[in-house]
Parts: sequence; structure tokens; C-alpha cells
Amino acid sequence: MRKMRRAFQQLDTDESLSILEKSTSGTLACLDNDGFPYAVPLSHVLVDGKLYFHGATIGHRIDAVNANPKVSYCVIDQDEVIAETLTTHYRSVIAFGRARMLSDVTEKRIALFKLGQKFAPGLTDKTIEEIDRFIDAVSVMELTIERLTGKEALELKKARQS
Ligand SMILES: Cc1cc2nc3c(=O)[nH]c(=O)nc-3n(C[C@H](O)[C@H](O)[C@H](O)COP(=O)(O)OP(=O)(O)OC[C@H]3O[C@@H](n4cnc5c(N)ncnc54)[C@H](O)[C@@H]3O)c2cc1C
Repeated sequence: MRKMRRAFQQLDTDESLSILEKSTSGTLACLDNDGFPYAVPLSHVLVDGKLYFHGATIGHRIDAVNANPKVSYCVIDQDEVIAETLTTHYRSVIAFGRARMLSDVTEKRIALFKLGQKFAPGLTDKTIEEIDRFIDAVSVMELTIERLTGKEALELKKARQS
């Protein structure tokens, strides 16, 4: 496994997971059928240490992931440009792992419900209605994380430690 060069800027696993938990979107990087990296923004939910995404049942992402399930997913937690010091106070997380499309309807329903609870808390009835209506038209992708790293600008690290 590749080590972070500036390890003192690394977040621990719990901090990285908590960023995945609270953030709403990130960029999925996959390798498409033509050998190009395809980086596509998505919304996610973290459930029991796995990431779940929903979307159409066809498209560039589906083709790419079906051809090569190895992916990574990057979330930017903070990006505050500090012009005076020619830098940015950043914090981000990258998860590497394998993606699979859920085929089991119960698994799909649970993941879609978790997405609904995260993005529209309180709209439980509407969420269930939508799941019932669109369950066959929606795909759900599960990303099992094999490697998770988080990194933040030195300034943020120092500020948190003081
Ligand atoms: C913050 C954010 C959250 C999103 N959340 C979701 C989500 O949860 N689920 C979901 O399905 N979609 C989401 N989208 C839209 C998503 O980025 C894709 O547009 C969508 O999933 C279709 O992807 P595809 O590969 O099937 O598209 P296709 O239409 O098959 O892609 C064909 C081509 O269109 C272009 N393209 C596709 N998407 C984009 C894009 N976003 N920006 C620029 N060019 C693009 C690419 O060149 C691609 O090769 C989100 C977008 C943003 C910005």
C-alpha cells in the first residue's frame, strides 16, 4: 500500500470516515472501456463503512464500473483559498475499493432508504413512495472501501492541535 509522503498531514481513519459521513458528494474515478479515467461527481451515503450511490441503470459510469470494478472516490471537505499566503486550507478524503451494482431488491431498497434519510430527513413517506415507483429504473452501486486516507493542510492540522 502506498504511504502518504507528508504523513504528518494525514487524518486518522475515524476522521476520514466522519468526513464521508457528513459530506454530500464527491468524485468517483473509474477506468472506462476506452482506457480513459472517468471522474464523475456523485452523491453518496455511508452505511456500515460502505459507500452507496444511486443513478440511472445505463450510462458511461455503469459501463466503466462493470468493465473494471476498481474505483476511487474523492471528497473535498474544505477548500479555503488564502490568497495572502498563496495557499489553500484544504481537507479531503480518498477511498479506494471495489464497486458492485446491487441486484438484490432488498439491498437496493435499504440503500435507497438510507440515501433518502440522509438527503431528505423527515420525508420518510415520500422517500418510500419514490423507492416503490422507481426501484426498477434506478441502479444502486456499493463501494467496499479497501483503503481510506484523509489529508489536511498543515495550517489546519496545527490549528486543531493547538
Ligand atoms: C454534486 C453532484 C451530485 C450528483 N449526484 C448524482 C447522483 O447521486 N446520482 C447520479 O446518477 N448522478 C449524480 N450527479 C450527476 C452525475 O455527475 C452524472 O451526470 C450522472 O450520474 C450521469 O453519469 P453517466 O456516466 O451515466 O452519464 P452519461 O450521460 O452516460 O455520460 C456521458 C458523458 O457525459 C458527460 N458527463 C456526464 N456527467 C457529467 C457531469 N456531471 N459533468 C460534466 N459532464 C458529464 C461525460 O463526458 C460523459 O462521458 C451529480 C452531479 C453533481 C455535480
